[in-house]
Amino acid sequence: MTKIIEKKEKQYAETKKIHPPSLDKLAQLATSSNSDTYSVQNLTKRARAKYMTNSYTVALASLKSPLQKSYNNTVYGCATTILQTQNKLTSTYCKNRWCLVCNRIRTAKLISGYLPQLEKIENKYFVTLTIPNVPGSELRSSIQEMTKKIQVINKSFADRNNKLVGIRKLECTYNPIRGDFHPHFHLLIQGEGNAKEIVQRWLKMNPEANIKGQDVRIADNSSVYELFKYFTKIISNKAIYVQPLDIIFQAMRNLRVYQSFGIRMISDEIEELQSELYTDIVKCDKVWTWLEQDWIDFETGEFLTGYVPDDTLIKLMKNKR
Ligand SMILES: [Zn+2]
Repeated sequence: MTKIIEKKEKQYAETKKIHPPSLDKLAQLATSSNSDTYSVQNLTKRARAKYMTNSYTVALASLKSPLQKSYNNTVYGCATTILQTQNKLTSTYCKNRWCLVCNRIRTAKLISGYLPQLEKIENKYFVTLTIPNVPGSELRSSIQEMTKKIQVINKSFADRNNKLVGIRKLECTYNPIRGDFHPHFHLLIQGEGNAKEIVQRWLKMNPEANIKGQDVRIADNSSVYELFKYFTKIISNKAIYVQPLDIIFQAMRNLRVYQSFGIRMISDEIEELQSELYTDIVKCDKVWTWLEQDWIDFETGEFLTGYVPDDTLIKLMKNKR
């Protein structure tokens, strides 16, 4: 065990040369006073998210994609070093969209910002808008076109003094059998008439789109949560399709996932540096370093969360295509 730790410590020292951990920065923030409060359970879930993210992001980084640097920043720079000062944990985050660690933070932020607004909307409808699947080479331009069209539709309502109220979300999945991509919108919109009119206008603007691909149904507050799921599926058919994921992330670069109509827009940006207070953690001053599936204290060999991925997850993470 000690040998493994020594080896890992050496490997980690190597990565530090490429991505110096910002302990100074961490220390600065650790002295500030405003932090949210969490339980250790949150850390175990974060360990799982980090384990999964690293599994596929290492593969993404090996693709020589234009996003390579950002992929590496996720692997080596996102929550890799945690500075513990008593019951406060401080870390840096990569803020990237493929990072499940950052997405957990982002989703919590979006839900707390949007949920109270969306719950107030009466007579909510859940709308799905699709276009025929596209090849990877056309994905970004297709998404941009779809976004423009939805803006035209939104404007046409506003022009008639019937402003849309709700939110739209962009999602994109990969079809491993056909080898193409399925970008689509989910909307939560006030009023059945408006919801149905959106679909009609969408079909008019996209004559090649199949009427069966569009959908309108009554929404309740639980379907609001549906909207805040991850915008793509990392796992399709029990495998990770690495290259297609890279195509999706490249296509989505700097494009908006969420757009609100008639309600306050909540930014999906998260802070690079964050401190959290833990109510149920053993107080001490330590530096924790990410090591494959958990954070370790190299001085004692102690792990922060005790998280161990189960066999099914390990197998799944290894099943890359
Ligand atoms: Zn991250």
